Amino acid sequence: MKLKKLLCLSSVVFASVFAQAQHLSVTEQITTYSQASVSLHKTYLPQWIQEKAEVCAKLSSSSVPSEAQQCQADIATFAHSVLSCEHSETRLQEMTKYDDELLNGMVTADGPAQIPANIQQKFDKLVQVAMKNHRFAGLLPAWSLTAYVSKVANAHAGANGQIFVSSFFWSENAVFTPDEVVAILAHEIAHVIYRHSVKLGCMAYEWVATPGLGLKEASLYFREDFSQETERGQAWSRVSQSFELEADRGSKDLLRQAGMNPDLMEQALLKLRPKNEGFSSGSHPDFDKRVLNVHNH
Ligand SMILES: [Zn+2]
Repeated sequence: MKLKKLLCLSSVVFASVFAQAQHLSVTEQITTYSQASVSLHKTYLPQWIQEKAEVCAKLSSSSVPSEAQQCQADIATFAHSVLSCEHSETRLQEMTKYDDELLNGMVTADGPAQIPANIQQKFDKLVQVAMKNHRFAGLLPAWSLTAYVSKVANAHAGANGQIFVSSFFWSENAVFTPDEVVAILAHEIAHVIYRHSVKLGCMAYEWVATPGLGLKEASLYFREDFSQETERGQAWSRVSQSFELEADRGSKDLLRQAGMNPDLMEQALLKLRPKNEGFSSGSHPDFDKRVLNVHNH
């Protein structure tokens, strides 16, 4: 709930910053964006702005004034693109396309699977409930559910409503009830509601700090360099894990709103725990933490 309030605050700060900035000089814009990047808790943008501003200041005292002006304009442009990233429809479309490539690649590699009708029906209901209970600014999610053949228990959500689930969940050896699978899908729907995929893409864009990159390139570049030993790797893990916990709570909320048993998410987590598959990259918190988080929600 606390995080939800913070996110609302973030869109208010974002909107007022851009309304003000339109009427300001480039120098004033940089000051405004710098202050906004601090108040919006951007991890590396404030530092980036400061370092670049020092470079621009040196240029203005030594060489051609037009270079210094261009230098400052570049700061304002990049800061604007970072601060507007999560709220931009173009960025959402960009991330959706990238997620489609990744997730459809999985289906192509492993083969498509048939989704049991009772699971599909309940998924459709949860989507209706999500559309009724959440206000989506701009582009509405284009919901879809795709299954792929796999012996690993896993599910994924793309930026704009594309959800993929492994057929393991209803295979002969699986221990999940159909409703527990639906709870896992509710977790994926929550990732879409909270725009987690585009937020992670925008975070990579900020951290890679190379103006002009797309979110796909920034994400790939960031992953290439990713190591949990580094400060950035640990910061990424913290954010990703907080998104997982938020999606677990979101699943419980959705189940409740749909008139289903809200404890299903906890039950599903308890069954996923011994498998512990697909969750080893630091992107997910450990299962005890997830169970406690959803239990206390
Ligand atoms: Zn998740």
